[in-house]
Amino acid sequence: MAQSLPDLAGLREALRAATSVVALTGAGISAESGVPTFRGAGGLWRNYSAQQLATPEAFARDPRLVWEWYDWRRSVIHRAQPNAGHRALAELERRIVAARGRFTLVTQNVDGLHQRAGSRNVLKLHGDIWVVRCSDCGLAECNEEVPLKQLPPHCSCGGILRPGVVWFGEGLPAKAWERASEASVRAQIVMVVGTSAAVYPAAGLAELGRGAGAKLAIINPEPTPLDVLADWVLNAKAGEILSGIL
Ligand code: NAD
Repeated sequence: MAQSLPDLAGLREALRAATSVVALTGAGISAESGVPTFRGAGGLWRNYSAQQLATPEAFARDPRLVWEWYDWRRSVIHRAQPNAGHRALAELERRIVAARGRFTLVTQNVDGLHQRAGSRNVLKLHGDIWVVRCSDCGLAECNEEVPLKQLPPHCSCGGILRPGVVWFGEGLPAKAWERASEASVRAQIVMVVGTSAAVYPAAGLAELGRGAGAKLAIINPEPTPLDVLADWVLNAKAGEILSGIL
């Protein structure tokens, strides 16, 4: 079932004919912008892994340490620019929408690079690193200060602010999840780009779409657990494949 690089033409043709497409992206699409993935090389920070820091328990134990890590990630993302992969997905959306089709970009990334590349219909499953939320009063606001002046930052109510992202063990934003599920069920093609497909429920969207009849394309230099279900497995960098498709 799975095909390799030469079948880029097959995926290109299928996309040209499709009127309903979902792209599910993960940290790998931003790797070419210099933003480290969680599990790949460069994902470690001061010997801590993401799994040790991106949890409510880690924040309750040591909010300053967790904020130091987010402050570092925000500075990396602040310097980063959208790459060819982000730009190609924005262009694909423009073409499909111009032909009166539907394109939904579902991202696990919190970096905002898809939006900066021009993508419009973006569902953020794991929040936004540029949003802060008060752990006491719940107030959420945009904060683009790099570096932060105060670690951990505080709300005007006196509570500690937390990053507006979804941590391991937390639920996804209900509305975004609902819309992502609906889009996956009605999709003719689901493209899974730059995700290890190890984090559920996000990875389950590909299975949901496939089960409802969508064709599945995986774009990742490494194998993923979803490869066995895929119609196209394109083992190369997202920037190369996605600009090649256009
Ligand atoms: P992950 O770190 O688990 O996996 C990254 C995947 O990207 C790997 O399968 C790797 O082979 C692949 N990859 C590496 N370079 C690539 C490239 N150039 N082109 C295509 N694929 C490439 O990341 P994930 O699956 O997104 O894990 C989920 C969690 O990681 C999410 O919660 C997400 O919020 C978080 N995360 C986000 C960012 C970001 O916003 N940029 C960065 C790190 C982690």
